[in-house]
Amino acid sequence: QGANVTTAFEVERISAEAGGWFVSGSGGHKFYDRLVLTMPVREALRRMDNIPQGVMAAAEALRYNSLRVILIGVGNSSLMDKSAVYIPDPGVTPHRICFMGFFSEDNVPPGKSSLIAEVTVPPGHELEKISDASLTEMVVDDLHRVGIIDRRDVVETEVTNITYGYVIHDLAHKRNTAIIKDYFASLGIHLHGRFAEFEYINMDEVIKRSMTLAAKLNDQEA
Ligand SMILES: Cc1cc2nc3c(=O)[nH]c(=O)nc-3n(C[C@H](O)[C@H](O)[C@H](O)COP(=O)(O)OP(=O)(O)OC[C@H]3O[C@@H](n4cnc5c(N)ncnc54)[C@H](O)[C@@H]3O)c2cc1C
Repeated sequence: QGANVTTAFEVERISAEAGGWFVSGSGGHKFYDRLVLTMPVREALRRMDNIPQGVMAAAEALRYNSLRVILIGVGNSSLMDKSAVYIPDPGVTPHRICFMGFFSEDNVPPGKSSLIAEVTVPPGHELEKISDASLTEMVVDDLHRVGIIDRRDVVETEVTNITYGYVIHDLAHKRNTAIIKDYFASLGIHLHGRFAEFEYINMDEVIKRSMTLAAKLNDQEA
């Protein structure tokens, strides 16, 4: 109760000042005495000054996969009966499709239905460069071919490109994240969440860790 929440503020700079932190960006300048950082840690470091070279190198060495998510709406109710389907077939572009209307009828207009097709894209892969329109065409063709949709039913498409999709736990992951976590701990900034902590955690774990961190911070305040 009484919390002051700012939204739609793209952080462009984070700088230490007067025993606290100045955060500036699309929403102006704000001063905080404590920071919990939930944005991707590498992007945060790129927005901070005087980062030790070893810390920056560790952050730049972190590996991840990006995602391109293609929403496909059809003019009938054929996509309501499943939650998600994994497609372990290199000949089909998306690795997973999720059916939005299955989770709630309110997610789709009456008489229509939709799916989102998730395409994993390693940075530098050729799928990163093709246009949203070409990718959509490719995915619609694939899903038509394997019998999930009929391309003649498609009434709506939209592409969302997500740079940080999946954390890759490569052999250097533990060493690199330890360097970064130690550095942020030395600054007194809490790293929190999937791409801030750079761990392959899902929503349940992020929520659990959020409750634990909130309790800890509230205890310190009390
Ligand atoms: C396509 C897809 C499907 C998924 N499916 C599932 C699933 O089925 N089940 C499941 O449990 N999990 C799923 N996940 C994972 C789940 O979304 C994450 O685990 C969860 O969202 C992580 O929460 P978070 O708060 O750490 O990060 P996020 O929810 O990513 O929050 C980070 C926030 O930082 C903001 N941000 C980034 N840069 C800046 C900046 N410069 N300034 C200000 N804000 C910034 C972003 O806008 C974002 O709101 C899925 C993820 C994706 C991408």
